[in-house]
Amino acid sequence: MPATTVETLEFKSELRQILDIITHSLYSHQEIFLRELLSNASDAIDKARFQALTTPELLAGDSDWKIVLVADPAAGTLTISDNGIGMSRADVIENLGTIARSGTKDFLANLARQDATNRPELIGQFGVGFYSAFMVADGVTVVSRGAGETEAVKWRSDGQGEFTIEPAERAARGTDVILHLKEDKKEFLEAYRLKQIVKQYSDFVEHPIVLGDDTLNSMKALWLRPKSEVTQEDYNGFYRQVSGDFEDPAKVIHTSVEGTLEFKELLFIPARSPFDMKFGEPKWGPRLYIRRILVMDHCEALLPPYLRFIRGVVDCADLPLNVSREMLQHNPLLDTIQKNVVKNVLKALGEMKTDEYEKYVTFYRELGSVLKEGVARDRANRDAIADLLLFESLKTERGSLTSLAQYIEKMPEDQKEIYFLTGESRTMVERAPYLEVFKEKGWDVLLLTDPIDEFVLPSLTEYKGKTLKAADRSDSLAGAEENAPAKEQEEKFQPLFVKLTGALDGVKEIRLSRRLKESASCLVSDEGAMGANLERLMARAGRADEVGVSERILELNGTHPAVQGLLELYERAPEDARVVSHARLLHEEAVIAEGSRVKDPAELARLINELLVRDARG
Ligand code: ADP
Ligand code: MG
Repeated sequence: MPATTVETLEFKSELRQILDIITHSLYSHQEIFLRELLSNASDAIDKARFQALTTPELLAGDSDWKIVLVADPAAGTLTISDNGIGMSRADVIENLGTIARSGTKDFLANLARQDATNRPELIGQFGVGFYSAFMVADGVTVVSRGAGETEAVKWRSDGQGEFTIEPAERAARGTDVILHLKEDKKEFLEAYRLKQIVKQYSDFVEHPIVLGDDTLNSMKALWLRPKSEVTQEDYNGFYRQVSGDFEDPAKVIHTSVEGTLEFKELLFIPARSPFDMKFGEPKWGPRLYIRRILVMDHCEALLPPYLRFIRGVVDCADLPLNVSREMLQHNPLLDTIQKNVVKNVLKALGEMKTDEYEKYVTFYRELGSVLKEGVARDRANRDAIADLLLFESLKTERGSLTSLAQYIEKMPEDQKEIYFLTGESRTMVERAPYLEVFKEKGWDVLLLTDPIDEFVLPSLTEYKGKTLKAADRSDSLAGAEENAPAKEQEEKFQPLFVKLTGALDGVKEIRLSRRLKESASCLVSDEGAMGANLERLMARAGRADEVGVSERILELNGTHPAVQGLLELYERAPEDARVVSHARLLHEEAVIAEGSRVKDPAELARLINELLVRDARG
């Protein structure tokens, strides 16, 4: 292909859809196009500055970093120029013709569902910020020259599905984005308007944004200032800029650590789940600066995954600047900083829970299930995380929550352990037969309906010296010894249980229950075996084969008339076929009560019908 001709290429299909939405449906907050283009220019400068640390010749003498805005009313164009890393021809085709990020499809689906016209500000979070230019321009020209390249390249598109690419002239490294503004978007040529937009959305960009003789942004590095000099408004503005969130943060953490290792943290707890997190964007971690130089947008090594909702900045003076990002990721100093970050975040969450409970609950409802992962993953901070947990319980109103500490405080004298029951919904869990003994004794039970609880609670095992126990597990209940069936009763039932052993599918043992009061039967799992709820969760995740179905213990309520009737029938006529079929019915009742599916509904119907017929003929 001769490099001198103009070549026409098509946008990839997803991008065409996005462009279509951008040009035709996004009407509010259109001024954010400038924020996106300035953020790209600033990123490009950060990249150049970072690479120059190891390859200084890339600079070719120009390290006067800046972003320049030029409005040309005669031509109707606004140009955003930077002296950043620039792009080669291949880079341009790759970066401005395809979509690299994975969340984009979801973003599209979401835009289509929601009122898209209200949320264009989210564009930048999905790696398609550049295209927001088409909200205000009917043509965009990009002239770019990559650092170290001898030639420049020109990209042009009207945002309709194609772009052209051709060789071009540019004196030095960097990029010009030239917007041919739509007829009714000429306001973006006005200096006052540009100033106002920069103040609102890009004030903390760290490189000067220059228009004529003016620098429009303040470039404040808030994290380097003493807390006393920073206003809440500054924090909020900075947060919105680093996070892309439009809401204020729930809490700000700003600390400075002095000593052998010196670093500053400016971190934010969001009020709600960050939008990009809902779409499984795998990036997390604060920005990492080394003495004000941005070296990483997301430094994962600074945050454990269970705190991936935290946004902000860490600046460490003691990290080496002249190594690759790859090597930096493995620097042991990052672990030390991470420990401090985790400590501060957990402390801040604790304060929020104590001092601003409502706010904490709002946060917890959205991000609690992420935070909970820490119980299983971060042994060292397990207790601190457990302090932050909230659950519904038998004794809370629907929708209200209790902490583990509150639970313990209210435990009656005779209760020794913390009990929980997992399931799909409060209604279902609340009515489970396992809770009968707890209700009678006035012992509270945590009702857990978040799927992650299945993994979290077992790994907690203990809180403030109290054991945590699943209410549907085989283990006896400490403090409920008086409920144990009498010895002579056990003996009476023994022959029947021997006869039924092996006759019931999925049941490995039958015994008298100490937890049932009203129901006739229930199924319990062995301590450590997989419970019914977890089995269902795994099945839904398509992993049933992997885990199989563990055999259960069938518990019968020896005082229940149906169970006593079964015993009488057996004693009268041990070989009567109804002994087994009635036992099957008691078993199926228990299967339904634990929320599992009856394996053979036709067989169950047959058994019930038999009873109906017998009853009718009396
Ligand atoms: P994002 O910034 O999230 O990656 P964008 O749609 O804003 O997504 O930009 C796409 C890509 O185009 C950028 O990742 C970058 O590689 C490239 N790019 C955009 N603007 C510039 C610029 N001014 N200088 C260098 N590269 C740029
Ligand atoms: Mg961008």
